[in-house]
Parts: sequence; C-alpha cells; structure tokens
Amino acid sequence: MMETDVCIVGGGIMGLAVAHALAKASKLQLLIIDRYGLGNEYCASNDFGRIFCYANGAKRRHTQMAIESLKLWRELEQESGEELFVPSGFLALDGESAWGTKFIAQSYQTLNGLSLPVELLEEAELRMRFPQFRARGGLLDPGAGVLLAARALGYYRSMLGQWGVNVLEGEKVVRLDLAGRPEVETESGRRIRCRKVVLTPGVWSNSLLRDGLVRVTPTRQQVIYLRPTRDSARFRPGSFPIFTVDKYYGIPIAGTDGVKVGYHRTPEEVDPDLVRRTVDPEAIEAFLSVVHRYVPELADSEMVRTKVCLYDMTENKNFVIGADPECRDVIYGYGFSGNGFKFAPLVGRLLAELVLEKPPSIRLDRLSPVR
Ligand SMILES: Cc1cc2nc3c(=O)[nH]c(=O)nc-3n(C[C@H](O)[C@H](O)[C@H](O)COP(=O)(O)OP(=O)(O)OC[C@H]3O[C@@H](n4cnc5c(N)ncnc54)[C@H](O)[C@@H]3O)c2cc1C
Repeated sequence: MMETDVCIVGGGIMGLAVAHALAKASKLQLLIIDRYGLGNEYCASNDFGRIFCYANGAKRRHTQMAIESLKLWRELEQESGEELFVPSGFLALDGESAWGTKFIAQSYQTLNGLSLPVELLEEAELRMRFPQFRARGGLLDPGAGVLLAARALGYYRSMLGQWGVNVLEGEKVVRLDLAGRPEVETESGRRIRCRKVVLTPGVWSNSLLRDGLVRVTPTRQQVIYLRPTRDSARFRPGSFPIFTVDKYYGIPIAGTDGVKVGYHRTPEEVDPDLVRRTVDPEAIEAFLSVVHRYVPELADSEMVRTKVCLYDMTENKNFVIGADPECRDVIYGYGFSGNGFKFAPLVGRLLAELVLEKPPSIRLDRLSPVR
C-alpha cells in the first residue's frame, strides 16, 4: 500500500495547477496519477493555444474570475521566465445569428460595468483597423490574448521533480474507497492511502463520481489549423485578434504555424473511450466557408493540422469546484464546459485552498458538486 498526503487524479492543466498551488503553499506530499500520462494527447488541455478573453455575454462572474486568473497567469510567467500569455485582443463579429448580436450587446454591458476596456466597432472602422475581416461590425475586447497552452503544460510538468511531486503515469484510477482514510485503487490493483483526494479527471469524471453529484456530458469538438500561404505576419497577435462569429472562433498564429479555427458548440455527446478522433469532412467544409466569408484573406491557406478534443459539459455550464459534502476529504474540479483553460491557475488555487481547509478566495456556492 502506497501512502501520500494528497492524491490528484488527472494530470491535465487542472491537476497540474493544483499540484503547483499546493507545492507553493504547503509541505504536503503530493502524487499525481494519470491514466495516459501528464498532458497526454487525449486530454482537453493538450493543444498549442487557448483563448483568454473577458467577454462572455452576461456572465459577470466569469469575467470577474477572468480578471483574477490573468493576474495568476502573469505571476506564473514571472516565476517561469516564459511568455505564456500573448496579448491579441478578442473580436466578436456581428454575423448571422441573433445569439451573436446578443453576445456582443451583453458583453459590452458586462465589460463596461466592470470598467474593463471594450469597444463597439462599426463596419468602416472594423475594416480600417482589422482589414483581414469582413463583417458589419463587432465588439473588441482589447485585454484578451492567447494562452500558450502547450508551453504552460510543459512548464508545470518540468517543475514537478523540483517541487517534490510524485507522478504515476499509465495507471487508471478505478475506485475510491472512502470508508476510513480515503484510498484510491488503480486498474492494476495498486492501492494508495491518502489524507485528501483531488479529482480532476475531465471528461472521464463520471466513472469516479458517487450518486447525487453533478455529472458531465462529454462532447466532441473539432478544430483545424490553417497556415497562410503568404504574409503570415498578418495573422499573428498584434495584427490579428482572436475572433468569434456565430459560435465559430479563430485563434491567431501563436506557439505554432497556423490559425486555429473551431466551433464552440456542443452538438455531439460521445463516450470518451470510444470517440472517433478524426475530423469530419463536413466540419472542415463549414470552417472553410466561415473563413471564406469573414476572413477572405485566409481562404487559400493550407490546412496543416486537424484535432478532435472533448468538452466536459455540465447541465448549466457552471464548473464544479468544491469538496464532497458527505466526505470533505474528496475535492472535485471538473465540468469546465469548454472554458476552463483560462481559469486554470485560479482553479488550482481554489482547489488547493479546499485541500488546506482555508476559506476559498472566491465564493463557490454556485460551483458545488451537489446542485
Ligand atoms: C477544442 C477545445 C478548445 C478549447 N478552447 C478553450 C479556450 O480557448 N479557452 C479556454 O479557457 N478553454 C478552452 N477549452 C477548455 C479547456 O481546454 C478545458 O476546460 C481544460 O483543459 C480542462 O482541463 P482538465 O485538467 O480539467 O481536463 P483534461 O485536460 O482532460 O485532464 C484530465 C486528465 O485526467 C486523466 N484521467 C481521467 N480519468 C482518469 C482516471 N480514472 N485515472 C487516472 N487519470 C485519469 C486524463 O488522462 C487526463 O489527462 C477547450 C477545450 C477543447 C476540447
């Protein structure tokens, strides 16, 4: 029987962020277990870039959390000596959908209400400042930027040894025994006794949740990368913001060689162990048609990469961050509903506070595992 103070199940960005926060705040002995390896290619955290923006419609709490989270990303940059956040701005284009128009109006109100910089752009001004785009207008969230996801994962991973964190890769946790001190059991029969368990297993959460807790719906998301055939500088942060239109989105070239294009909707529920990891031709066609219409200069790019990745959706899209009310030694961080990366250092800090039984630095009532 192995023993440790804290066992973290899931070594995506959230598991790594809580390990980081705990290593900084305590002398506890930490172990991270991941069934496929830390930051593996199947986990939701594995990609080059992730969007950080303040704009999120009427969701004021999200925007407030984003403000806190960016401070922590900046601290992590200082600590690591690496650039992790590339300022680019975020442009919500007014497209075809009523949803998009409402998102712009609500985001404007929210950002204004929180005294964050925000601009509404008419067609002529949009064209002048961002000539790559064609749309009748939009909203600019100038404080947004690209988080270099692969680099952040790499930094955390590279530091675990120095922080004294133990790692068990290629072991799948199959059971939690909560009768006495928590015990974690892996598929190979290994048992680990600990004082606290932190569960950050992403889309695989359901199999480790007891009855009565919020469950996740895993959904399949598809993305492509387009490498411009000429003048790629026009598609880098500084010239080209992150954009969204009718729930499609694009991320400028940062940390890789292409503009990422995806669709932030959750149409298809899947089994995370059986999901098909190749992109559908219809999805590629839809992405290219959006690019053709709204970013015509990018239309003759070369598609250099495709990827399928999963969201762990909760019913109301609120994350789960909290201790189990029936067993305070089990702490949950899952259900990030396609939006978690930007909050990772904040989530890490909140989960660490729960482990250390400190009052959480933000209110967690709406994020409880029991709703
Ligand atoms: C296509 C796509 C685009 C996205 N874009 C953005 C964005 O622009 N901005 C943003 O903020 N967020 C974005 N997100 C969401 C964000 O990436 C996720 O919310 C975040 O990465 C979730 O991290 P995690 O650590 O909870 O989960 P994961 O990264 O999935 O990590 C979970 C880990 O747990 C391990 N595991 C699971 N079960 C077990 C078990 N039983 N035993 C041992 N190990 C186990 C897995 O192997 C995995 O490594 C996007 C997500 C996707 C899929």
